[in-house]
Amino acid sequence: MKLYNTLTRRKDEFEPLVPGKVGIYTCGPTVYMFSHIGNFRAYIFSDTLRRVMEYLGYEVKHVMNVTDVGHLTSDEDTGEDKLEKGAREEGKTPEEIARFYEQAFFDDAAKLNILKPHVVCRATDHISDMIELVRRIEANGYAYRTSVGLIFDTGKYPEYALLSRLNLAEQQAGARVAVDPERRNPSDFALWITNQPKHLMQWESPWGRGFPGWHVECSAMSIKYLGERFDIHTGGIDHIPVHHTNERAQNFAATGKEVVVRWMHNAFLVIGDARMGKSEGNLVTISELQERGVSPAGFRYLCQTALYRMPLNFTAESLQSAQNSLRGLVDFGRNAQAWPVNDAAWIEPFKQEFKDAVADDLNIPQGLAAVWSLVREGNQRQDRAAWEAILDFDRVLGLGLEQLAGAAAEVPSQVEELVAARERARKARDWAESDRLRNEISELGFLVEDTPAGARVKPRP
Ligand code: AMP
Ligand code: ZN
Repeated sequence: MKLYNTLTRRKDEFEPLVPGKVGIYTCGPTVYMFSHIGNFRAYIFSDTLRRVMEYLGYEVKHVMNVTDVGHLTSDEDTGEDKLEKGAREEGKTPEEIARFYEQAFFDDAAKLNILKPHVVCRATDHISDMIELVRRIEANGYAYRTSVGLIFDTGKYPEYALLSRLNLAEQQAGARVAVDPERRNPSDFALWITNQPKHLMQWESPWGRGFPGWHVECSAMSIKYLGERFDIHTGGIDHIPVHHTNERAQNFAATGKEVVVRWMHNAFLVIGDARMGKSEGNLVTISELQERGVSPAGFRYLCQTALYRMPLNFTAESLQSAQNSLRGLVDFGRNAQAWPVNDAAWIEPFKQEFKDAVADDLNIPQGLAAVWSLVREGNQRQDRAAWEAILDFDRVLGLGLEQLAGAAAEVPSQVEELVAARERARKARDWAESDRLRNEISELGFLVEDTPAGARVKPRP
């Protein structure tokens, strides 16, 4: 298997640290609002990575954090805690906000068939691990105190810019706030923040009452669950210059080692020229997609049409086309269920093509090309073996094809009645009533198709 590594800027052979096993850490959500579909592109990517690993026979341990403290409104160490701001705006406690949006995140993730990571860890449950890590960093001489708290001295780590490949001038130009005169280097960042009496979530520490810097949680929890050297760390590309650069510096300062072997980053989901993001004001959530009649599986299909390292353009057309392709696959599955499984030897080259594609730095679009070749060939041969192979590929694609195709048989009687009523309306040429009934059926999650043999109803994919 070949995978790209942001640290080396090269695609190379993946060699697990322990044969047959893989440890993956994914930066999880900051739970102060609904995650948007840009965020979910990142989680579909890490889920696909895990699924590919499992498909290729690795035993995976996937760890993801939930950020419920310490992520300030600016990536610099200024601004309000995102959780506390959310709590203030909604008149709730930070804990209520965190639990609510954490649940919402996992509900949406389940709709997208994102497998729950083996370990999900909340920052607020790991404060003592973070204090311990910061203690090690300080003991090794990488930290100093200012009125803000305990600060990491990036000047002590010559390899600081290796991940971002930014030089100091670029880092300075990128800094959005006036440089704090107490800091030794513009890129220095807080490990532990004190003297913030208004902050609601605070803990005692050797550096005074306060709270951890955001980057500390990911270093502390990844090391706790995956060890001081582990295989893969994932996140979106926006995390490269600050969050992951700082995590990597902390890891080295605490352990004297390069903890993460391979850093992998997904490119953005974009609308027009802008990434989807809160500051761009162009957010779309999973529920909003569903309100527009788009299924979560349709969105997942869209994500699988692009290489994870390439920007993915989100447009009404791209979404519609993904949704249509998914419907085509599901229809193929329904037809195939009536066919026998014949001699399946012809399937093997397609399986190989799929496997080679996904093992080549997760080339899922190429994998989908193999799927569609199978559909064409399977249709010609009328051989269910093609569908069985596609269901096997769906362990990687995560579209839930078996369920989508199988659900056809289960049309609730309420829907059947509406379909019959619509047929009567059509016979009476009452088009307004017929359209109204079609919408009602659609709201229940079904589509009616008018065929020469009469109306056919199926679940919306
Ligand atoms: P956050 O909650 O802001 O830390 O973001 C959660 C994850 O979503 C991170 O891995 C981000 O890099 C990623 N992310 C944020 N916006 C986008 C986007 N428009 N497209 C893809 N990934 C994104
Ligand atoms: Zn992180």
